[in-house]
Amino acid sequence: MDIKAIITDIEGTTTPISFVKDVLFPYSYQKIEEFLKNHWEEEEIKKIVEDIKHIEGRDLSFEEIVNTLRRWIEEDRKITPLKQLQGIIWEDGYKSGELKGYIYPDAYEKLKKWFEKGIKLYVYSSGSVKAQKLLFSHTNYGDLTYLFSGYFDTKIGSKIESESYKKILENIGISPENILFLSDNPEEIKAAAQSGIKVYRLVRPKDAEYIENFPYPQITSFEEINI
Ligand SMILES: [Mg+2]
Repeated sequence: MDIKAIITDIEGTTTPISFVKDVLFPYSYQKIEEFLKNHWEEEEIKKIVEDIKHIEGRDLSFEEIVNTLRRWIEEDRKITPLKQLQGIIWEDGYKSGELKGYIYPDAYEKLKKWFEKGIKLYVYSSGSVKAQKLLFSHTNYGDLTYLFSGYFDTKIGSKIESESYKKILENIGISPENILFLSDNPEEIKAAAQSGIKVYRLVRPKDAEYIENFPYPQITSFEEINI
């Protein structure tokens, strides 16, 4: 494999899904009301609140905004204003040291090795670019942002549409056959493969299960990837 760039997902790939479910989501759920109260008059927050009203299709009181956001967190909605707001709340937590990102040891070792070999590394996650950078700048291995050449989130498109991967290819400027995409999500793997990118599906024992007759390679750890 002549791989020049690797695009990685985060949740279920470099990081346990439970980190998001058991650490990040409860943190934002718990802090959201107080955070909105303290930042209600700020332009960035006003814009996010307008987006929420637009999505719900009606005017909402402060309480209704909080309840809507909490419902979205519970439903794990991949919605831009929620992701933006969570990004800001998590930023506070990371900076204060209340939050720390977790990267699997095998993912850390391989990413570092690939970086040292001159392979370009990118992140494509449904968490906002802001949240991605925050996670990688405050990890169990310290600040890892130096490893990555770029970050993509759902602003470029849905992770299960091959069109999104084509846009990323244009952005990176490397041919699809020289790019490897890593994710736990079978639909994302299929969409990436349809754009001509090489793929590996991560099957982290606690996060996912092998799919019988899946048309693409499935691995349990980054250690199985030899480039
Ligand atoms: Mg994932």
